[in-house]
Amino acid sequence: MGRVFSDLRTAEYGASGHPEAPFRVLRTFERAKAAGHAPQLPSLTAGASDVVLLHGEGHLNSIRLGTFEDADTPMFARIADIALISLAGALSAADAAMKGEPSFSLMRPPGHHAGKERVAGFCYLNNLALAVARLQKAKPGLKVAVVDFDVHHGDGTESLLLGRENTSFLSLQQYPLYPGTGFESRGNCRNVPLEAGTDGDEWLSAFEPELHRLLEAKPDVLAVSAGFDAYKGDPIAGLKLDRATFKRIGGMLSQTKLPRFATLEGGYSEDLPLLVESFLDGFF
Ligand SMILES: [Zn+2]
Repeated sequence: MGRVFSDLRTAEYGASGHPEAPFRVLRTFERAKAAGHAPQLPSLTAGASDVVLLHGEGHLNSIRLGTFEDADTPMFARIADIALISLAGALSAADAAMKGEPSFSLMRPPGHHAGKERVAGFCYLNNLALAVARLQKAKPGLKVAVVDFDVHHGDGTESLLLGRENTSFLSLQQYPLYPGTGFESRGNCRNVPLEAGTDGDEWLSAFEPELHRLLEAKPDVLAVSAGFDAYKGDPIAGLKLDRATFKRIGGMLSQTKLPRFATLEGGYSEDLPLLVESFLDGFF
């Protein structure tokens, strides 16, 4: 059981030396296939009407035209189209989850740092938050719990979901670290800062009561920003989770028995394909 959505066109951009590189999708795609999770193309498409569910009217156009500035998040040829394919993966995963199938969107660019009018931290469109908004538009009153286990704070997601009805957000992150936020909780957004060097067992001990608390609101669906850069071998951060930790995270989310979907956020180690495979072993 479980469905993986991917599209290898999302590997068709990159800058030399940039950690958010094509191998992330290419090699993880092959590994998922070998593990029996053959990726399929998104069942839905994404367009401007999906983007404006949470982003500003001019945001997509600024990505098309390259009229944005963020040192980590460059302009690439066709990046707006590729970002829409990545968004389509998230929308499709959310749709499949509501039909009873746990799903994972294996796409790039990632999304959780993207804000209303802002590209940031390798992210152009906030795939996960937009997928949540689309579900709630189709089904008013739907309660969604968002979990972000990327090593970086999901600041874009928080900014888009802060104060949103029927929506709660939980993010665990190394602190201090990019983007410099995520130390304090506010409103419906709960943040758990963790020191550099935190290992898998310590991470799970912090996560378990927080997940329990999140479930007290009786969500109808779980939306997961799945970043794998808290891995001990990741080149850009300092937490010490191992491969087995990601399987346990997936397992704890699966034990909720809730409709659930996840999107790929960060994770820059060569071992990313194995980490995703382990997560899916638990999550599906
Ligand atoms: Zn990250």
